[in-house]
Amino acid sequence: MDYEAIIGMEVHAQLKTASKMFCGCDANYAAAPPNTHVCPVCLGLPGALPVMNRVAIEYVLMAGLALNCAIPEEAKFDRKNYPYPDLVKGYQISQYDMPLSRDGWIEIRLEDGTAKRIRIRRAHLEEDTGKSTHMGAYSLVDYNRSGMPLMEVVTEPDIRSGAEAWAYLTKLRAILRYLGIASGNMEEGAMRCEVNISLRPAGSAAFGTKVEVKNLNSFRSVRQSIDYEIKRQAAILDAGGQVEQVTMGWDENAGRTVVQRSKEEANDYRYFPEPDLPVVRARRAWVDELRARLPELPDARQERLIAAGLRPYDAQVLTEEREVAEYVDAALSAGQAAGADARSISNWIMGELFRLLKESGQDIATIQVAPGELAALVGLVNRGAINAAAGKQVLEEMFATGRPAAAIVEARGLAQISDSSELERIVEEAIAANPKAVQDYREGKKAAVGFLTGQVMRASRGKANPQVVSELLRAKLG
Ligand SMILES: [Zn+2]
Repeated sequence: MDYEAIIGMEVHAQLKTASKMFCGCDANYAAAPPNTHVCPVCLGLPGALPVMNRVAIEYVLMAGLALNCAIPEEAKFDRKNYPYPDLVKGYQISQYDMPLSRDGWIEIRLEDGTAKRIRIRRAHLEEDTGKSTHMGAYSLVDYNRSGMPLMEVVTEPDIRSGAEAWAYLTKLRAILRYLGIASGNMEEGAMRCEVNISLRPAGSAAFGTKVEVKNLNSFRSVRQSIDYEIKRQAAILDAGGQVEQVTMGWDENAGRTVVQRSKEEANDYRYFPEPDLPVVRARRAWVDELRARLPELPDARQERLIAAGLRPYDAQVLTEEREVAEYVDAALSAGQAAGADARSISNWIMGELFRLLKESGQDIATIQVAPGELAALVGLVNRGAINAAAGKQVLEEMFATGRPAAAIVEARGLAQISDSSELERIVEEAIAANPKAVQDYREGKKAAVGFLTGQVMRASRGKANPQVVSELLRAKLG
């Protein structure tokens, strides 16, 4: 039978604040020894009282605005009760029925190029737990992470495949990084993901039984676990069986989901309002001020690049990371004076520059090729001062040394020969030296002109203008 997958996602992102959510502990504990960034509050000692981190609240409100959410005038914190060794208080301060933001959406682009909206149910704020490490018969707990501000973004069940989940995560992470509120780094655990998946017969409106897959720590494992669950559940349904409502994990090595426990219901958590914290009032003036602080976001940036002449696909790729987008913007604004159009600059970045970045493992924010110099190089190629092949050599040297394009062209004598009297001489020599190719051409094998062009390019040590050469050859061969 044909099934439709109904997928919702919950993403937890650690916020980049200076201190923890409810205490003054330094939030930058990455390199610190275990249990050194702790205090009575984040250790959950009796009598310790939480105090809200205003910046964390502002970050979630900004995320809510960027995710097109409504910001309710009042929000509150609740206690979510569950016993777990790394949860010191026996409850987590979270938000239940009055989150900081709700009812938004993100637009993703599907593989066929069409746009699709994924609705956001809510983005709320909670505290992170400590971290357990299991060693044989022992478990060690590090509370440095306990009480870190954690934003949870929950979608409506609008996702239909692993590929859509990937696109959603890419866009969400781009927005968080543009806002500068989270690193979104899944490998470091600063962004974590859970998905819930059910199948229903295609065309049906009823929902099937949901399976939750938790603790996914890479985009790849999100995509693979979804694709795996869709197949697993379809096989059960096809065999006339019933999907069990369980929480699963993803076994990266085995490439399959594994049952962790049966699913809790919300009432198992015995949520109740956190009595030690006041209600948060998001006054309009405050929200307006936060809205004014939002940077240009990926969607707006994409549209601007498309209007400047970039292909939609390129505009999407070039805006996924804020550093890349900023590099592109700087190159484009230098492009006008350098005689480099937006489309050519984008082609050079998407092609040669990305190749060099990949090969060297470098980050675009710290490379030696300044955006203005890249534009200057593209301008040299566009004006015909050097040909494209020479341009690639020049870029490689710029990448390695940071020298300006014009200086490299000058030092290496790469300036293109477009002067036809000099080219004419080389062309005539090539014709004289290759009678077989000339005969082939005259007998109708037009491809032979490509061979002769190659000979001329070689004789000119790559400096001939290939277009002029090919025109000269055709003229001389008749
Ligand atoms: Zn603390």
